[in-house]
Amino acid sequence: MGVLKRIFVATFDGGKTIIEAVNPVIVSAKGKRVALEGCLSIPNIHEKVERPRHVVVNAFDRYGNPIVLKADGFPASCYCHEIDHLDGILFTDRVVKS
Ligand SMILES: [Zn+2]
Repeated sequence: MGVLKRIFVATFDGGKTIIEAVNPVIVSAKGKRVALEGCLSIPNIHEKVERPRHVVVNAFDRYGNPIVLKADGFPASCYCHEIDHLDGILFTDRVVKS
């Protein structure tokens, strides 16, 4: 897009909660959680992926104000998934064998 920023947008609660994160950085990751993941970029594929159970992400909102995102479980996995995208990593690169 010619915009040199790292940005993700995630929605939770059926779209009621919208998270916009500019230049997100994971500053704390604790625990482990294995769950099925899928991706809009890779339709119809779901695999087990191990992610941290708890994460803290420092980022900025669209106005440049610093924000701190603390997440447990599914939202934590979601943030990790989206930040991986910004680093060119897909969930299929992190599949755990069971
Ligand atoms: Zn994805």
